[in-house]
Amino acid sequence: MSTGLSTPITICRSCGSSQLETVLDLGRQPPANSLRASLSDTVPTFPLVICRCADCATVQLTETVDPRYLFQQYVWVTGTSSTATAYSARFCDAVRTRSPGGRPLFVVEVASNDGTFLKRFQAAGDRVLGVDPAQNIAAAANAAGVPTWAEFFTREIGERIRREQGPADVAFARNVLPHVPDPLGILRGMAACVGDDGLVVVEFHQADAILDELHYDSIYHEHLFYHSLRSMEYLLNQAGLQAFDLMESPISGGSLVAFCAKTARPASESLQARRRSEEQRGTNQRERWQQFAANCFAHRQTLVAMVDEALRSDNGSARMIGYGASARSSTLLNFCGIGQRQLRAIADRNPLKHHHWTAGTDVEILPPDEAFSRIDPNWVLLLAWNFRDEILQELQARGYRGRVIVPLPKPEVISL
Ligand SMILES: [Zn+2]
Repeated sequence: MSTGLSTPITICRSCGSSQLETVLDLGRQPPANSLRASLSDTVPTFPLVICRCADCATVQLTETVDPRYLFQQYVWVTGTSSTATAYSARFCDAVRTRSPGGRPLFVVEVASNDGTFLKRFQAAGDRVLGVDPAQNIAAAANAAGVPTWAEFFTREIGERIRREQGPADVAFARNVLPHVPDPLGILRGMAACVGDDGLVVVEFHQADAILDELHYDSIYHEHLFYHSLRSMEYLLNQAGLQAFDLMESPISGGSLVAFCAKTARPASESLQARRRSEEQRGTNQRERWQQFAANCFAHRQTLVAMVDEALRSDNGSARMIGYGASARSSTLLNFCGIGQRQLRAIADRNPLKHHHWTAGTDVEILPPDEAFSRIDPNWVLLLAWNFRDEILQELQARGYRGRVIVPLPKPEVISL
């Protein structure tokens, strides 16, 4: 049944099979980025459930929330993190060393955002073109000197680029494919815009990181797919592309970068090793995902008990705040039922989020300075645990004395 804003799938988005098996049900949840200006604002909830295709092993959400609804929330997404900026240099080098040398490249990026990554290629002397659907972001990128088309990237756009600007040497898409209902359309467009010896590069949050480190907090309505290398290669092959090399990336706590060509090239050792490792670890097997689901429920029990015990400690004088009102924290808080009863506020550095309220859990988001001065917490729940070291340093620099609960990968308490 479609509610107008969301539609359940009946067939696999990758292969069209109807053999879909539910893996993990996180309950009905509001979209992760639906922060509210007032507690009385209401937000719709949608099933947050992942399933696995028995035929092609692709793990995906059972429900597609209308992208036009989710897209409105992109106002909350901040500029590039320091981790991403540092990583952009390594990414650019990795792409250039796998490209034909001796001449400037023509490089196209799908969903290029503010052009942070393309600027690296420009600095190396390459010609670049970004494509991004957000008009305001594309305008800002153009103003900053990164040529950018304000378009959804499709097969037609890929063909138009080649027709008007010549074949690209490189087309890359970072963390784009898992967000779109039709990733194959994008891959076909990328294949269309590069020349016969061109390079197509895709980066995606990878299933083994999700399974090993229990990244269930990366499951939210914007993320339609949870790809393994195998399920990604299945898509690539349908678009006439073949992976020949692989690199690991630190983005999202563990991502993969696949380098692909239109003609078969020998598979690198790192690509072969990853294929073997997925085979050995059962990454694409139903049993591994069932175990993951059981681990998520066990994790919830442990974390909730830890938070409850913290709140009972010190004769009831515990004052707990959260740190980091990211999209990921929304899933964790809603799944664990941790909200205003436990957290007096959530500290976050993004000014756009300040004095807004989380959806489903009703916690106010405050600037860190205000959260610490007003509440004087002695417990911090580190929701942005994927920036653990950075935030622990900040808490120390602030002179925070108290304890920190790090929820993932394994719940633990740290004393500062
Ligand atoms: Zn399938």
